[in-house]
Amino acid sequence: MATKRDYYEILGVSRNASQEEIKKAYRRLAMKYHPDRNPENKKEAEEKFKEASEAYEVLSDPEKRALYDRYGHEGVKGVFSGGRFTWDDFHHFDDISDMFEDLISSFFGGRGSTSSFWGTTTRERRRREYTQPGRDIKLSHRISLEDAVSGKDETIVFRRAEICPACDGNGMRPGSGYRTCPRCNGTGMRRFSQGFLTVTSTCDYCGGAGKIIDSPCEKCGGEGVIEVERRIKIHIPPGVENGQILRVPGEGEPASTTSGRYVKSGPRGDLYVVVYIERHPFFEREGNDLYCEIPVSFLQATLGAEVSIPTLYGKETLRIPPGTQPGHVFVLKGKGMPDFRNPQKRGRLYVKVQVKIPTHLTERQREILQEFARVSGEKLNEIKTEKGWFDKIKDSFEQVKRDVFGNH
Ligand SMILES: [Zn+2]
Ligand SMILES: [Zn+2]
Repeated sequence: MATKRDYYEILGVSRNASQEEIKKAYRRLAMKYHPDRNPENKKEAEEKFKEASEAYEVLSDPEKRALYDRYGHEGVKGVFSGGRFTWDDFHHFDDISDMFEDLISSFFGGRGSTSSFWGTTTRERRRREYTQPGRDIKLSHRISLEDAVSGKDETIVFRRAEICPACDGNGMRPGSGYRTCPRCNGTGMRRFSQGFLTVTSTCDYCGGAGKIIDSPCEKCGGEGVIEVERRIKIHIPPGVENGQILRVPGEGEPASTTSGRYVKSGPRGDLYVVVYIERHPFFEREGNDLYCEIPVSFLQATLGAEVSIPTLYGKETLRIPPGTQPGHVFVLKGKGMPDFRNPQKRGRLYVKVQVKIPTHLTERQREILQEFARVSGEKLNEIKTEKGWFDKIKDSFEQVKRDVFGNH
């Protein structure tokens, strides 16, 4: 083999150059020998660039540089897989890939173009990891209508991921460490050759990290994360609506890296609690208004009465005037649901009268009612028709409909 040039000479730096100077020099050469800048002499430029890359591969690594400083080219032969440098031995594409991207976009107008660089086609650059906020957790929680009226502090119990306390999230058994990924030899990238074309992609074995855990943490099985039960108190406001979503910031999953590993540094996601209100046996809700029906005997409806009715704020006395008709609706202001935006403001309670007709009469009761009919001059086997009777029936139905469902 012809005499190899000195690595420092190739990069044009002094023997005691700093890492920063070495990197700068290499980037300058990468730019100089870029094929787009050397359309006339691509072949020669490639050779020069490869030579510079070999020098950079050795000098940018303190261990390899020390070997080279002491023993020269002989000393670093062993660091190259085949005894001499090939692109497979180069681990620093990341140090120059940004330049390629810039050049590529200036030539082809945008990222995403396939970069062709001395036979190396980089389809997917080694992913740069960054931290992203944790995922949100969504839960549902049921409460009674009574609790929805008063509001409530509830304890919510759920499971979520926590950074493993045994390994502090790194997934390693305490005292153990990493070893180089055997698939990609620590580069985090894998290369697939097809003819003279080489496609590079992130190593799927180590996820691009270039290293794998030597001995996994026993508590979390190397995941760095465990699932734990979490209990937190949440405040459900008075007047909460069915399906309303309450947000509890920072109670979601931990932050994670782009490769999906949970990390401590970074904001947790949020917790969202969807509140569902159970059906009530007596009250129905529509917005902030409540609806119910009360059974009233035909005597109470006819003679009038004062009855005690339940509301969500306790018992209430309702005066039923004499002659109250079936289906009549009483409106109680301020006995509906509180408005969750302003709990002082409350909706209405609509109480519909259901007149109960007795199904069994004693002999005596029958006699009295027949007497009542006689006194009233009512013939029991005739329908009391008068002019426009059917229209009146229709009108009264319309009125009830308006009373119950209209104007709110
Ligand atoms: Zn662990
Ligand atoms: Zn790997």
